[in-house]
This record gives sequence, structure tokens and C-alpha cells, in this order.
Amino acid sequence: MVQKQDLFPPVNMFGNLYFVGTKPASTHVVDTGEGLIVFDTGYQHSLYVVIDGIYRMGLKLADVRYIFLTHGHIDHLGGARALRDLTGAKICLGAEDRQYANGELDLSYAKELGMSFKETFEPDILLKDGDEITLGNTTVRAVATPGHTPGAMSFFFDVTDGKETFRAGLHGGMGINTMCKAFLDKYNLPYSLREDFVKSMHRLNEEKVDIFLGNHMQHNKTESKAKLLQEGNKYAYVDATEWQPYNLWCIENLNAMIARENAESN
Ligand SMILES: [Zn+2]
Repeated sequence: MVQKQDLFPPVNMFGNLYFVGTKPASTHVVDTGEGLIVFDTGYQHSLYVVIDGIYRMGLKLADVRYIFLTHGHIDHLGGARALRDLTGAKICLGAEDRQYANGELDLSYAKELGMSFKETFEPDILLKDGDEITLGNTTVRAVATPGHTPGAMSFFFDVTDGKETFRAGLHGGMGINTMCKAFLDKYNLPYSLREDFVKSMHRLNEEKVDIFLGNHMQHNKTESKAKLLQEGNKYAYVDATEWQPYNLWCIENLNAMIARENAESN
């Protein structure tokens, strides 16, 4: 069960874009006119909140056609198998994170959280850099952004209210927690993930993004913007100035961690 303090009311962010996640893990939905695309499912134990959110936004669960996953950690893919069973939707995951999802590698981060990942699955579509998938009026472009995990994927697509169109960018994984020395050593992961991460952030910086989406609420200030939206600002989530500084901050954050580790080992 989800703790009461982790619940967050679903939000129609702009036009055909919705937030239906929980405070610990974001889930976004796009209504393409010919079906729904779900981005990340959150944990398995909070999937019922996502389903409730879909209905509360006036959408239908049976319309889910694709489940895009930003990376292979339990807080993003935990509910994917159950959601696929319920809807018949296709699960799309970065090819490099396949073994995170199917359980061949114990890398779902569940253990770190005192959980176990039992709802393992084989993804239907293994995404590679530059892949595009179209449903209805929406084309999702996947950009490989390894670092947080080897298969982390960022997603770009247009959002519209029928009059105006904005470019949304969903960041695939910004947490540096999985690139600290202790974690890399514990799970036998390569240190090159750190260099991959820096390259990925520079790669993301080439994208123009009007609506910055994160896979955790604090990344893109989902909560405070929901308040602005409620107060009548329909553009609460539209801000073309947020994306690039955030990517550069991710690099600084990683470098600061590496500097701390070096200081400790000297
Ligand atoms: Zn993660």
C-alpha cells in the first residue's frame, strides 16, 4: 500500500499531458487521440494509484497502448508487468537495461530499498538511440542517456491542447546515487558510466524543451507547479528555461561527488 503522505492528486499538466504518479515516483500519460502512452509505472505496490489517476483524468485504462520506461529501476518499472497484463500495452525499455527488467541481473535497486522485485518481465520493444514510435498524434523519440543506468532513455514528444503545441522532454535518469564508488563496486558496474553520464547530459542539452518532465517530482517541481495551475496559470508547466541548466547541474553534482570521494581516499 502507498502511505497516505505519498499520494498526490492527478494533474492535467497541459493539453493532452497528465501526471498520475505518486510523490515517490512519477508517472506521466499522453492521450494521443488513438490511445494512451504511459511513461514509467512507479512501483508495483502503487500501480493502483496510477490506474485511479488515469480514470480520474477521464481517461480509460483499456486505451493504454505503450508503456515507456526511463530505466530499469523498481521505482519506474515495478508496475510494468501488471499494467501490460491489464491492458495488452507494449513495454518499451532501453536495450541495455533488459536484464534489469527480466531479473537476469539483480540491479533493479529493490535491494537497496529493502524490497524485492518479483514482477520481472521481458520488454516487448528494446529501444536504441534515436528510435521513434508514433501513436495517434504523438511521436516519441528515444535518446539514449546512459549513466544512471546503462540503458537509461530520455523521451521527447509534442504536447498539444489543439491550439498550441509544446515540446516535452522526459529526463531518463539524473540520480548520481548509482554512480558512487560504493555502488559501482558493490554491483560490479563499470566506472565508465560516469563519463557516459556527462556525455548524456551534454547530449540532452542539445534538445529544445518547453515542458521539463522528471521521473521524480522534485526534479521538475511537479508539486509547486500543480499549485500554480490550480491558481489559474495554464502554462504552469511550460518553461523553456529549465531544461538546460538542470542538465548542467547534473554534471556539477556528479563532479562534486567524485571530488568528495577523492578527498576521502587521500
Ligand atoms: Zn533509478
